[in-house]
Amino acid sequence: MNKIVILFLLISSCGFQKIDKKVPPPPPELVEYIEEFERYYSVKIDYSVDFEDLTYPAVGVCRIYGFGLPEVRIDRSFFEEYKDDYYTIHNVLWHEFGHCSFRLGHDNATLPLIGYPTSIMYPYVFGMSDYYADNIDYYEEELDHRRKNSIMEFEADSECTIKYHIPIKPTRVTPDKTKYNRKKKHEGKDNE
Ligand SMILES: [Zn+2]
Repeated sequence: MNKIVILFLLISSCGFQKIDKKVPPPPPELVEYIEEFERYYSVKIDYSVDFEDLTYPAVGVCRIYGFGLPEVRIDRSFFEEYKDDYYTIHNVLWHEFGHCSFRLGHDNATLPLIGYPTSIMYPYVFGMSDYYADNIDYYEEELDHRRKNSIMEFEADSECTIKYHIPIKPTRVTPDKTKYNRKKKHEGKDNE
């Protein structure tokens, strides 16, 4: 009898829990990022994206349940700290969407000579580095290439977190450009 009860609890906690839940709208602060991702990759994020108090050093998580919709959670205090840093938030969200939308796994590889991550699917945040901002087009395209080639598939029924990490120092390249606000750049174009 006990065995039956335990089995039921396990299934209900990771298999069927999310099926019939309506997807709540994302927080307004994240809408712009979500829409940008949807436009760029021509996909619809039809699952829940929200803030949550995650356990340090995790700052974002994609949870995929067996038969239900996945969900992305961003650590509330991390967002508060970095909400004005477009690229850091971009890095965390794109990474989690890479898991939840494309079922991609992690990649620890770094670019030869440069020393920065090969992919947004690197398991630590590096969006606060100038290198990320300066090479944003590369990273967005790399993610597209990765999903089309299904590199390192993400396993369903598992949980995957991205963790806060001090930016990696480059070994050869010293980025010296100051960060610029990408949103302002886009707005400027729209007004032209
Ligand atoms: Zn991850």
